[in-house]
Amino acid sequence: MAWRCSGNSNSELIENLFKADLIHSPLVKAAMMKVDRAHYCPDPSYAYEDSPQSIGHAATISAPHMHAHATESLLPHLKPGSRVLDIGSGSGYLTAVIAELVHPQGSIEDREGNGKVVGLEHIKALRDLGEGNMKKGERGRELLGNAKVSFVVGDGRKGWVGEKGEEKEGWDAIHVGAAAVELHQELIDQLRSPGRIFIPVEDERGGGQYIWTVDKDENGVVTKKRLYGVRYVPLTDAPHA
Ligand code: SAH
Repeated sequence: MAWRCSGNSNSELIENLFKADLIHSPLVKAAMMKVDRAHYCPDPSYAYEDSPQSIGHAATISAPHMHAHATESLLPHLKPGSRVLDIGSGSGYLTAVIAELVHPQGSIEDREGNGKVVGLEHIKALRDLGEGNMKKGERGRELLGNAKVSFVVGDGRKGWVGEKGEEKEGWDAIHVGAAAVELHQELIDQLRSPGRIFIPVEDERGGGQYIWTVDKDENGVVTKKRLYGVRYVPLTDAPHA
């Protein structure tokens, strides 16, 4: 698929993914158009290909069609003003795409809304990488400067309530970019009603990894669904320096 979906520019890449039916939503397409993938790939000469790339520390920036799938799955909960947690933010690419949906440029919500996107990493160098990548563009600098987006260090298996509990209002959407060994209860507890978690989870009988969604409806009823097979970096303990 990669050969069909590569391009010579960010907009060509996204347009080709759309034509190949790997992006379906015009909203997700528009958000991905606004984030230049070359700012997030260590080797920008391969940035406009539909393939993953190593970003160091045993982490990878996922292929853009995977980012599109994840964003489309969470889309009903990525509205102007939503609060979103991106666990294992790595390159920061998906954090930036989500921020474009939560803070549509020029809208009232963008100026006054209290939406928030937090990228959470357990490796400080990767926290810094995500923030540094987002700072390469003017729009990214604006979102970071207004505290609409922030990158923090912590163990994603525990979710994020802030250094001093300032984020304990919870999350409308939680994206997990690394494979968990279980559906961590703390993440479900931090999910708002309604809300959705998108998370790769190791099959408990060793059958590989699967994407799961966890939905909490208006009444707080939780529904878990197993979707398709994937291969992600594991959600683990931070390596010792
Ligand atoms: N969405 C990122 C994916 C990076 S790979 C991107 O496309 O760029 C997965 C990331 O999960 C790695 O950066 C890794 O450091 C991080 N990670 C693994 N275990 C974690 C944990 N317990 N808490 C937070 N981040 C974790």
